[in-house]
Amino acid sequence: MLSVQNLRAWYGNVEAIHGINLEVGQGELVTLIGSNGAGKSTTLKSIVGLMKKRAGGIFFHDQDISAYTPSSVLACGIALVPEGRWIFPELTVEENLKMGSFLQRNRRAVAITLEEQFERFPILKERRRQKGGTLSGGEQQMLAISRALMANPKMLLLDEPSLGLAPQLVCNVFSLIKEINDSGISVLLVEQNSTMALSIADRGYVLSTGKMIIQGAAKDLLNDPKVQKAYLGYN
Ligand code: ATP
Repeated sequence: MLSVQNLRAWYGNVEAIHGINLEVGQGELVTLIGSNGAGKSTTLKSIVGLMKKRAGGIFFHDQDISAYTPSSVLACGIALVPEGRWIFPELTVEENLKMGSFLQRNRRAVAITLEEQFERFPILKERRRQKGGTLSGGEQQMLAISRALMANPKMLLLDEPSLGLAPQLVCNVFSLIKEINDSGISVLLVEQNSTMALSIADRGYVLSTGKMIIQGAAKDLLNDPKVQKAYLGYN
């Protein structure tokens, strides 16, 4: 479904991604893990057209999207939930959600998708007239995910969705991601919380200083002593 081939990306003259390959199949939940600064966010930004300088192939359903703008990537069916959520604090919950369907001109279709989101996230319905900035961290993360779903994506890219959340909320976010994937949306999940990410994923990739160093079935990575020692906090 998504195929990233020999991807390279630069910040100015500094190369941050050195020719990586990555695949996400239809209906799969794939996680990309690695230490701080490994290049996980840069990989997601490259896929959605947010990196100015990049090279290599990015294919979605065999269509070459490597030169697409962010809105064309979204129109193809790939939505990003960025690190730090980036909700609009001064807009209401409902207005934030509607921003997610800015490509949809049919108001009726937007209203239907909004109702679907309110069914999935009753707390957002309850707070629909409240400003986004007044929500708790966990609710803001829900809002950011729900806003991405407003575009009716076929694939969701999530950048550190559990960052900064209390432990109970972290579990909720991971169950939500699993649920979204079970509803048929393919997922590429970037996470620092590698154990939780691998425990819900089908497959995983480990990125280190811009290179893909390990990949495999998530359950194999969870049992791999090298991965356990370097990324899962085992001694
Ligand atoms: P983190 O979990 O800390 O976000 P990451 O794995 O997502 O880490 P990236 O943010 O993709 O890593 O960063 C990859 C490399 O690119 C790092 O060396 C980082 O310092 C560098 N980098 C990231 N953003 C920029 C930027 N805007 N300008 C210059 N260099 C950057």
